[in-house]
Amino acid sequence: MKRRDFVTGLGGAAALAGCAGESEQAGTETVSQQRFRWDLVTTWPPNFPGLGTGVNTLARYIDELSNGRLQITVYGAGELVPAFEVFDAVSQGSAEMGHGASYYWRGKTEAAQFFCTIPFGMNAHEVNGWLYYGGGLELWREVYEPFGLVPIPAGNTGVQTGGWFNKRIDSMQDLRGLRIRIPGIGAEALNRVGATPVSIPGSEVFTALQTGAIDAAEWVGPYNDVAMGLHQAARYYYYPGWHEPGPALECIVNREAWDQLPDDLKAIVRVACQAASLDMISEFMARNAGALRQLEEDPSVEVLSFPPDVLAGLKAATLEVVEELAAADPVVARVWNSYTAFLEESETWQRISEQAFLQTRV
Ligand code: CA
Repeated sequence: MKRRDFVTGLGGAAALAGCAGESEQAGTETVSQQRFRWDLVTTWPPNFPGLGTGVNTLARYIDELSNGRLQITVYGAGELVPAFEVFDAVSQGSAEMGHGASYYWRGKTEAAQFFCTIPFGMNAHEVNGWLYYGGGLELWREVYEPFGLVPIPAGNTGVQTGGWFNKRIDSMQDLRGLRIRIPGIGAEALNRVGATPVSIPGSEVFTALQTGAIDAAEWVGPYNDVAMGLHQAARYYYYPGWHEPGPALECIVNREAWDQLPDDLKAIVRVACQAASLDMISEFMARNAGALRQLEEDPSVEVLSFPPDVLAGLKAATLEVVEELAAADPVVARVWNSYTAFLEESETWQRISEQAFLQTRV
């Protein structure tokens, strides 16, 4: 497997020589011309619309902003390592960078999933508020530190949809025995109410649903679900995405590789991740709307809302799961306390801002 590959380019040396007079005057303020070539492994199918292409955009931003000093080769799931081995690959340094969703790593530490999304929790705006201005990102860095990983928020799909079902869900009873693909705490909540959640990467969702290996599957939203053909594998499309109200995606960087970067390249990576996040959520907003119209016109698809008592049942199960996790692990407890404190304040504000405003458009 490819190791870190530091290249000091001759072009860089020539460029330095060209401005030697200036740099002597400026003391030590020369820009390092050291070049870096990194591998980035993702949990997404190669070039998958929105998610995979969003990572390609991130790599391009970093290349352009660094004038080629940090070049990143993106690998989709399975090209270098399988989707669910991204965390270990970057932690061990067999790839310098990874992109995915932190709820895939709950087997490493239960605290990880709180930085992606919590069912019935924060939406994309709120997650950003918490991560950047509410102490969330500091906690995230602390949680990943023992794994030799530096986390950087890098993308968000916005609120997702509830998923595709091959039968109607009219009551809690209909969830019993249901084999459903779903990650994170949403999976655990469904388990509590009698369903059988399964964890499989995106690339396997369509086949599993079409062959009947599973009865239901959540993936992302109209844009990605149509791209995957899920509307051809099940009839009932449920909303809202109670389990993923605004998942923050992650860029993870191997700590040793990160420490090798000069400060300006570190800044470029951080800012490129922010820019890629804005790009991704903007794209999802535009393309989900278009894809939903297509689904509503499709006679083989029914778009339905979950009944209120089903949502209430899932919410109660979610709280039970999270409270148990927090009681069992002091790190989870700290993260959960920070999360809930932010959400409680935010809810008050959201009630008279976004929520109240959207009601005026009904
Ligand atoms: Ca999802």
